Amino acid sequence: MAVRPVVVWPDARLRQETRTVTEISDEVRALYRDLVDTMYAHNGLGIAAIQIGDPTKMFVVEPSLAGREANADPVAFINPEVLWSGDESQLADEGCLSFPGIYVPVERPLRARMRAMDLNGEMFEVEGHDLYARCLLHEYDHLDGKLLVDFVGPLKKQMIKRKLAKRNSQDSAA
Ligand SMILES: [Zn+2]
Repeated sequence: MAVRPVVVWPDARLRQETRTVTEISDEVRALYRDLVDTMYAHNGLGIAAIQIGDPTKMFVVEPSLAGREANADPVAFINPEVLWSGDESQLADEGCLSFPGIYVPVERPLRARMRAMDLNGEMFEVEGHDLYARCLLHEYDHLDGKLLVDFVGPLKKQMIKRKLAKRNSQDSAA
């Protein structure tokens, strides 16, 4: 178990192609524990494996957002697919651990249904509503190499790049 460094945009690793999981190996279970530790260390609601530099098709979601007890294990979504998303939409500011301190208004479906494999290799389906739907779709986008900056225009993208570069240089000076 370990908190791993989060890959921050514009690191090219956030755009690498992700790999389908073919069996629930010890490596996959270890990756799950690292994702959980890293998500909690940064107070995230979810995190995708690609964000810690591992291009496996997997993300985890904080348990209370996923409708479980707050002290339950975070939910693993392995090889997820979006089965359906509703016509109704929601607009809200969205953050991302790979864009520290940045919030971008993103329009998303209000509801989404997803199918994935769990850590026992069993398939399951969930329907997310509101923030849960937003989180599922955000994490799913990561596995497709899609990021917050893909929802903004070129000027805003440059502004985000400058902010993150400034933050980076402050971190390394500290
Ligand atoms: Zn993200």
